[in-house]
Amino acid sequence: KLYNQVQDLKGSIRVYCRVRPFLPGQVSSCAVGSIDEGNITIITPSKSGKEGRKTFSFNKVFGPSATQDEVFLDTQPLIRSVLDGYNVCIFAYGQTGSGKTYTMSGPKNMTEQTQGVNYRALSDLFKLAEQRKGAFIYDIAVQMIEIYNEQVRDLLVNDGLNKRLEIRNNSQNGLNVPDASLVRVASTMDVMELMNVGQKNRAVGATALNDRSSRSHSCLTVHVQGRDLTSGTILRGCMHLVDLAGSERVDKSEVTGERLKEAQHINKSLSALGDVIASLAQKSVHVPYRNSKLTQLLQDSLGGQAKTLMFVHISPESDALGESISTLKFAERVS
Ligand code: ADP
Ligand code: MG
Repeated sequence: KLYNQVQDLKGSIRVYCRVRPFLPGQVSSCAVGSIDEGNITIITPSKSGKEGRKTFSFNKVFGPSATQDEVFLDTQPLIRSVLDGYNVCIFAYGQTGSGKTYTMSGPKNMTEQTQGVNYRALSDLFKLAEQRKGAFIYDIAVQMIEIYNEQVRDLLVNDGLNKRLEIRNNSQNGLNVPDASLVRVASTMDVMELMNVGQKNRAVGATALNDRSSRSHSCLTVHVQGRDLTSGTILRGCMHLVDLAGSERVDKSEVTGERLKEAQHINKSLSALGDVIASLAQKSVHVPYRNSKLTQLLQDSLGGQAKTLMFVHISPESDALGESISTLKFAERVS
């Protein structure tokens, strides 16, 4: 039944907006006027002193009090479709500090309730695979890579940050990054351990002032292979769970050198992603996958039969207004 629901979803691209709550100690006025179902209204100050209002519409908007559980609920049909042999991409987009990592991985001091999409998705995969045990045998394996300055690196090996990996499309075994570690997982415990390894490796090279994680895309890819026990047919599906680099625009007059290069790479890849999804949403004939490593990597999981879900994140403070509006505009363009 859920399978049919997936088929019935209007279009294969869904865009959800999530507004982070104010953090303890944060003092600022709020830029979010109202939220209802799929609409979010932003309050913009105007020069004459009169407030302006702008409303943006999405498949759904999650307010500051939405729980991890509520946010995950709508992604569940996608998980099932991975077991049915479909490819799925789930993205977290937004400026640094808006809650991308919270949505995908959860907070630093995690509890069962605050587990993020990554853990919940895998946990559901295992559960569903177990339910289908009599009819299918599933093999589940994960890869975890990062894209930093348009270079692909393995997050599951300790020296992986030094080795650049190639992206291949249409490889025989269905792996787009054949040289990245591929680790078989059988339980959520296995996955937790791997995610910890990935987090640790991602932090390599980062300092307090130089938080690399906000300037690279990280991608947890889950490869699922199922064998139908009656017919012997093999189904292959994969799911990419992507925590994108911060979308904030940096002031070109203020940054130089390495920081400017990073900013240009991020800018390029996020606009390439926007262009790809927008052209899929408009059903264009030409989809510009080749313009960034990110879109090359995800090529066979964006468009066609694949299903895409994007969580765009907003910080509620007025200080973040400019970035929030540019995030909402990006989101509107791809939905
Ligand atoms: P990003 O990955 O976009 O840079 P984070 O996920 O690190 O942002 O979030 C920034 C801070 O806000 C973190 O301390 C995180 O725990 C907190 N936070 C984000 N979203 C929520 C939320 N929905 N509820 C509670 N705290 C949140
Ligand atoms: Mg983050």
